[in-house]
Amino acid sequence: MIIEARKLSRSYGNTPALREADLAVEAGEILAVMGPSGSGKSTLLHCLAGIFTPDSGEVWFGGRRLDTMSDARRTKLRRTAFGFVFQFGQLVPELTVADNVALPLLLGRVRRREAYARAAGWLERLGLAELGGRRTGQLSGGQAQRVAIARALVLGPRVLFADEPTGALDSLTGEHVMELLVGLAREEGTTVIVVTHDARVAAFADREVIVRDGQVTDPFADQAVR
Ligand code: ADP
Ligand code: ADP
Repeated sequence: MIIEARKLSRSYGNTPALREADLAVEAGEILAVMGPSGSGKSTLLHCLAGIFTPDSGEVWFGGRRLDTMSDARRTKLRRTAFGFVFQFGQLVPELTVADNVALPLLLGRVRRREAYARAAGWLERLGLAELGGRRTGQLSGGQAQRVAIARALVLGPRVLFADEPTGALDSLTGEHVMELLVGLAREEGTTVIVVTHDARVAAFADREVIVRDGQVTDPFADQAVR
């Protein structure tokens, strides 16, 4: 297992968002996390990614305990081992497409020439080669999400966390974006955990779990009993 959550609980004031949630994710797996609005999906994702600390329970990443790690170590791990794609608002609109994708490399002290060469390679793979010089504020929603995927993958993360990555897109564009995301993740061996409301997005996953009232359930577990 690359990621494991054990009895995770997290409340906001008196509102419980997670109630002893358990989840185990295998390396290389594409996992869809579904469930009604307010069921705890975002909170779960944020805890797994080390962005939120749970009130109780454990989060493990690659055999290391994430939730009790020092902030400095956890932040470093998040920058190097995890990639993130959200619904929107993650690109710097004043910068070009190429700048946005090169940014994580430049922040990681990769030399300029090398960073832009690697960014260009990713843009090519995402069908964005012609848009490198464009400001991201001028892109369509689908183009912007493809840039966000390139930026999330450019450092070669072990796990890609995606929270409603197609939520702002029409369904055809959303399916195309998911197809690209999943295709690249498989080529790279990246584990993907994607929160989505959309069954058509979940259809790209290897496995699907449902969050209900702060607990994770496997929709196919019942069928094994019957
Ligand atoms: P989902 O992603 O499934 O919509 P969330 O994890 O966002 O669920 O929310 C789970 C529960 O926690 C909901 O009842 C939500 O209203 C509550 N919640 C989430 N974030 C906050 C917050 N920052 N402050 C207060 N309540 C929150
Ligand atoms: P999603 O359903 O995709 O999780 P939401 O609209 O529920 O999105 O939440 C968007 C943001 O608002 C999240 O950062 C979440 O933590 C916060 N949030 C959700 N519910 C509440 C709440 N009841 N009070 C304060 N913040 C909340």
